[in-house]
Amino acid sequence: MSKVLVIGAGGVSSVCVHKMAMNPDIFSDIHLASRTRAKCDAIARSVKERTGQTVSTYEIDAEEVPALTRLIEQIGPRLVVNLALPYQDLPIMDACLAAGVDYLDTANYEPKDEAKFEYKWQWAYHDRFKEKGLMALLGSGFDPGVTSVFAMWLKKHKLKTIRQLDILDCNGGDHGQAFATNFNPEINIREVTAPARHWEGGRFVETPAMSKKVAFDFDQVGPKNMYMMYHEELESLARFLPELERARFWMTFGDAYITHLTVLQNVGMTRIDPVLYQGKEIVPLQFLAAVLPKPETLGPTTKGKTNIGDIATGEALDGSGEKTFYIYNICDHEDAYAETGNQAISYTTGVPAMIGAAMMLTGKWQGDGVFNMEEMDPDPFMDMLNTHGLPWQVHELPAPVDF
Ligand code: NDP
Repeated sequence: MSKVLVIGAGGVSSVCVHKMAMNPDIFSDIHLASRTRAKCDAIARSVKERTGQTVSTYEIDAEEVPALTRLIEQIGPRLVVNLALPYQDLPIMDACLAAGVDYLDTANYEPKDEAKFEYKWQWAYHDRFKEKGLMALLGSGFDPGVTSVFAMWLKKHKLKTIRQLDILDCNGGDHGQAFATNFNPEINIREVTAPARHWEGGRFVETPAMSKKVAFDFDQVGPKNMYMMYHEELESLARFLPELERARFWMTFGDAYITHLTVLQNVGMTRIDPVLYQGKEIVPLQFLAAVLPKPETLGPTTKGKTNIGDIATGEALDGSGEKTFYIYNICDHEDAYAETGNQAISYTTGVPAMIGAAMMLTGKWQGDGVFNMEEMDPDPFMDMLNTHGLPWQVHELPAPVDF
């Protein structure tokens, strides 16, 4: 039924392309392009072995807009799914506009020299997509992505208003390495070392990175320390849920991760500004990313589960007063690896990217312009989570969170 072009060939792309191939009624013709064609070919081989489907592969630098535009025109997809890095968001959106094709991504644009995590650059494309009758869907991963859809599902089915929202991202997996990140190390470390920001009283409040720590007992994972940090869905949630009094994002980290990161930060290895080394400019964080284990190599050794979800408090829809609900998904690293050859962090992002693409290609989610997940009907997306590997559960809690 539909031809799709996926850009980027890392762990998230690998999961997404495998899941697309498992749904040939929606994704009848899959094309995959990235900077290193060999990585596309490796994904295509795995997809062939596991599903029998053929994936066509190409080499492209997505920052070269004219070349990318030509590639999109040559392939003629209905949708471009951007699973490269946040730096490529704007060039890929430019190429989609030039070629007249819809766009989807899982992470908001970031300039290379600033860890900003803001939607403003992509929201500024709204009128251009609208004028061309094209749709761009932003942030269709897990967080951002599913966490926003969870909030909107609670607002549609359980709560009239959401007063307080906490997003809890727990990775209870162990990869057996002294220090490694579960997705692109450069983006992960930029995120974690940026100051924490949460929404309170109609504005963002900034606190030092990793300065607020809380212990929480996660279903099927157990007690973990989680740290408050900034995450990009807080910006879109604050925009589309104007009644929010407070919204925070929490992520779990083990003590060994924190110790390694603290040392790396103290010695300057997480800097994102260039330094002169033997007459050549290098960015310390990019060098660090090059020597750390590649996230896609962690799959075979990672054991344990992720548990990611939202706790929301607000006025109940049925008029029964204030209620608190906890909605989450649990994903098993080993199960994810057995199905697609990738660990759960890539799995929990690649599956929602496939589902977002399915929403657009089947016409369940439509619009002209640039949209966030919060603006779409959560129900068909939530149904597909249940049937495509990321089942969710919702429980009422006796009281709002006390941390
Ligand atoms: P990886 O680093 O594993 O993969 C990125 C891929 O993009 C690589 O294949 C890389 O090519 C390719 N790439 C980089 N630059 C270019 C370029 N200029 N042109 C073409 N291709 C390029 O990242 P992940 O798979 O872990 O993550 C992919 C995306 O998903 C990221 O944007 C990340 O932020 C996002 N993400 C979102 C999450 C969510 O829940 N919303 C969670 C986790 C990740 P090469 O191999 O040659 O370097």
